[in-house]
Amino acid sequence: MADHYNLYSLKHFAGIVADCMELPLPETYAPPIGWLSGLLRERLGGAADRAVLYHADAVGQYIWQQYTGLFAPVYRHTSLAVPFVSTVESVTPVAHATMYTGLEPEGHGIRTYVRPRLDCDTLFDALLRAGKKVAIVAQADSTFLHIFAGRALDYFEAASGLEVQEKSLELLESDRYDVVSIHTFEYDNAAHAYGPESREALNAVSLEAEGFHRLAETMERRRGQHRTLLTYSPDHGQHLTMDGHGAHGSRQIEDMNILHFFGTIA
Ligand SMILES: [Zn+2]
Repeated sequence: MADHYNLYSLKHFAGIVADCMELPLPETYAPPIGWLSGLLRERLGGAADRAVLYHADAVGQYIWQQYTGLFAPVYRHTSLAVPFVSTVESVTPVAHATMYTGLEPEGHGIRTYVRPRLDCDTLFDALLRAGKKVAIVAQADSTFLHIFAGRALDYFEAASGLEVQEKSLELLESDRYDVVSIHTFEYDNAAHAYGPESREALNAVSLEAEGFHRLAETMERRRGQHRTLLTYSPDHGQHLTMDGHGAHGSRQIEDMNILHFFGTIA
């Protein structure tokens, strides 16, 4: 049977977030997926004034297909699960640059595993132009801290996925930020070391799904004060290698197909 790649490019991510927040979209951006941001806007009942963007690195769609129950904490706070296709190459800097610039790799220039600071316009720049207060919280040496460096936003680095979650919770509880973008790679690390479906890797899926739940719960306690957009948005998947490890970067369906979850609190 032929591989069936998902329809939607990751380049729509920035447009979806911008549309939900009613930010002016730079012309360079791929447009939002109309039906999707339409539904989200309907559920928000107006422009989102908060967004929590959670990026669990390397969680492929087939992990969801085979271990659906692990995503229960994500389902709890989201209403739409939408299939996306990763970038070529299916590695973190290429995929996240595409998500946050609305451009294909040839447009933003990161086409392989390199991490230069992006000079082109990103969702972060659009948010800052609109006067939004933005934070990035990420595990040490995260791609986010390299390619999105040098902006007038707050960067927080933590040693582990759990510490990232603690810092993110603290920021959300302080209610000082309009947008918090979070990157953890506990699953990516464990899947590389032990294989994408190893016990260690699946435990990491749960750890990150639970983290998403805790962040969403914090926002739900403020229901009525804000209109909040929530996303759980991986960048690519991983496939099992001959020697029992995990890898990605290829066009294999395991690397390419991913699932994003969207939720609203209003
Ligand atoms: Zn990786």
